[in-house]
Amino acid sequence: MEPAVGFAGPAVRAAGCPQMPTPVFEPPAVRCGMGLVVTQRKGTIAVERWLVRVLGIVQGVGFRPFIHRLARRHALAGSVLNYAGGVDIEVEGPEPALQAFVAELQAEKPPIALIESLSTELRPVSRDSGFRILPSLDGESGPILVSPDVALCADCERELGDPADRRYRHPFINCTNCGPRYTIIRAMPYDRPNTSMAVFPMCDRCRAEYGDIDDRRFHAQPVACPDCGPALAYREPETDGEAALAAAVEALREGKIVAVKGLGGFHLACDATDDAAVRLLRERKGREEKPLALMAPSLEAIRRFCEVPDYALSLLQGAQKPICLLPKNGTEAFSDSPGLPGESENASVPFFSIAPSVAPDSACLGVMLPYTPLHRLLLEEGGFTALVMTSGNVSDEPLATDNDEALRRLGPIADGFLLHDREILVGCDDSVVRPTSAGTIMMRRARGYAPFPVRLPQAQLPVLALGAHLKNTICLTKDDYAFCSQHLGDLDDAETLRFLERTVEHLASILRVEAEAIACDLHPDYLSSRHAEELADRRDLPLVAVQHHHAHIVSVMAERGVTEPVVGVACDGTGLGEDGTVWGCEIMVAEPASYERKGHLAYIPLPGGDRAVREPWRMAAAYLDQAFGADFADALDIPFCRDLDRNASTLLRALVERGLNAPQASSAGRLFDAVAALTGVQQVCTYEGQAAMRLEAFAGDTDRVYPFDLCDREGLLVMEPAPMIRAIVDDLRVGRSVGEISGAFHNTFVAMLAETAAQIAREAGLARVALSGGTFQNERVLTGLCRALAKAGLEPVIHDQIPCNDGGLSLGQAVVAAAQL
Ligand SMILES: [Zn+2]
Ligand SMILES: [Zn+2]
Repeated sequence: MEPAVGFAGPAVRAAGCPQMPTPVFEPPAVRCGMGLVVTQRKGTIAVERWLVRVLGIVQGVGFRPFIHRLARRHALAGSVLNYAGGVDIEVEGPEPALQAFVAELQAEKPPIALIESLSTELRPVSRDSGFRILPSLDGESGPILVSPDVALCADCERELGDPADRRYRHPFINCTNCGPRYTIIRAMPYDRPNTSMAVFPMCDRCRAEYGDIDDRRFHAQPVACPDCGPALAYREPETDGEAALAAAVEALREGKIVAVKGLGGFHLACDATDDAAVRLLRERKGREEKPLALMAPSLEAIRRFCEVPDYALSLLQGAQKPICLLPKNGTEAFSDSPGLPGESENASVPFFSIAPSVAPDSACLGVMLPYTPLHRLLLEEGGFTALVMTSGNVSDEPLATDNDEALRRLGPIADGFLLHDREILVGCDDSVVRPTSAGTIMMRRARGYAPFPVRLPQAQLPVLALGAHLKNTICLTKDDYAFCSQHLGDLDDAETLRFLERTVEHLASILRVEAEAIACDLHPDYLSSRHAEELADRRDLPLVAVQHHHAHIVSVMAERGVTEPVVGVACDGTGLGEDGTVWGCEIMVAEPASYERKGHLAYIPLPGGDRAVREPWRMAAAYLDQAFGADFADALDIPFCRDLDRNASTLLRALVERGLNAPQASSAGRLFDAVAALTGVQQVCTYEGQAAMRLEAFAGDTDRVYPFDLCDREGLLVMEPAPMIRAIVDDLRVGRSVGEISGAFHNTFVAMLAETAAQIAREAGLARVALSGGTFQNERVLTGLCRALAKAGLEPVIHDQIPCNDGGLSLGQAVVAAAQL
């Protein structure tokens, strides 16, 4: 068995096809002698008229003025016209100039435009002169792509800091290349009256720029300036404009918590270097240990407290500006005892000036750069190393978007409010990504990405899929596009369900899609499943319930354009299996319409059901019980058993023996929990995935692989980790470090999956192995398994833009439902 560490190979990105293939331009195929022939010195050059049809994200991104300038550069006559699905361009001139026009159109397109397809055809020459921008056609001519919000561009950033510019320090500066989009759109087509900028009539100077083809703000719908645009306000004490900004900065410097209205909602902000402020924020928000996101003024600032690998640069600095998980500085080596490297005793090391309470469990920090002018002003004005910028909500509710709502809901948390009067029509959280050497792990897809679609391998029935219970998103398909919503949250409360309902309506209305089927998870008790049932009833539509792990595998297949059967490896916490047991580490042969379960992790009882999820020590006890028998606690001389509460342990055993509230599960997440508890890393969790995250943070470099069994049980390959559990106990007895045990455990988990997948691939005659499920947010597991599969001659298919966790589930559900109907 090969160890699975230190992966650095490029092989994994070859899986499937890219999400948005670059179109290849071909000149008009038909040339039937249309147009007149002009004689030039070196022969004859035909004047032709072409219709160039461009589909993609070409509205609200400065595409028409760009086309206008390009036509002028080549002295071409004609027109450009927006319609709901794209733009139609007619250009007339000498054939080489038309060729150059189309080539440059693709090469020099505006930074945030996305050309999905481009076609050309010949038209009769009309001999008109000049180039015109025609009014929008509000027709139904193809899929509508809505631009996500775009981070402040370099030109606007320069103007923001230029005292001579009329938008100097204007917190709402934007242009055709940047600014709000999805979050301010009420309806399509994307024109100012259909946005929340409708209430800000442009001043004369802004109107002149908006109408000037040579201006960067030509037809920029959210264009504004200090004379006519939105304005800042602060409470309490109540002030506005520059004074509001100054008041917010002062409050933050004093260690207070300020609610800041941003692009897609409110943040709760405090000085990230002030441990007392961070602890206060945690206490008031009801967030005990889950990492908090940071915003830092510059890349240089980030380098002071994080390592920034080269593959993270484009993510950090690009037009989306997501929160990037980056390794904390100086935490390479693993420690010998629980208590993460860099914290506690080593506090004197200049490890970083960021408060330890920002992310106590993780070897990473979640950091982003300022993506709005307001954020930039706030950070620069205050001279902050970094601000905590966490979602403006209580606990896990949806983030607040409206001023009054924020004042009410965040009142108990925030000491002050930095507000503005540009309405947020669609709540959109910050996206979270984890850059790795094997590719990007999308952990939360929202601002900057949503509602950008996934291009499906083929057109399908329009389906509305309502996703899972945790990290919910919805997905709506139209033709060969799947529009996945922004992250909506965990469906634990009525607020999140209302957010889901609003998003369903808004997406359907701006995309103009009428779903013909509804999809949901197989689990009947998820709020999303119940809501799906209601919707299907009310609209009289077919309802398809999709098995959780099948949906995971199909989500990665759909994203990568794979339709033929693959081996699917789905690893996560829990999902309802078809046999009524809890699944969570499944190896299957899958295609969109169906799947066959071929292997899984051995079942283990979850003593106490949901409590076993929150209390990893229960899982450690269950695994020890299985590996060593009922008297393991007295028989084993390891710290876990010495500390184990004998009464609680006896109670667990009774639950398991009587089969009371101890469901059988094949969950990858619970195996990670068990090892985390066994090694003393985490006994009780305060948020989902905490134990696994800490266990990964400890994992050191090692080649060791523990033994495990693969057994054939009634045609299913069962991965039996008991030999590994025994070996870990041996390691604990001889005092091996947590880092070494965690490293070896990761290697073993990867080896177990790789061997099982390879065997199943061989038997089924398949070469591609699709990986999905929340466990693949673990970089060690993802890169290790990709490397091991490649070594076995198999091709891993992994996610790129869509989360592997339950946030990607709605996409898989939508595709499965359409394939089955
Ligand atoms: Zn700009
Ligand atoms: Zn103005």
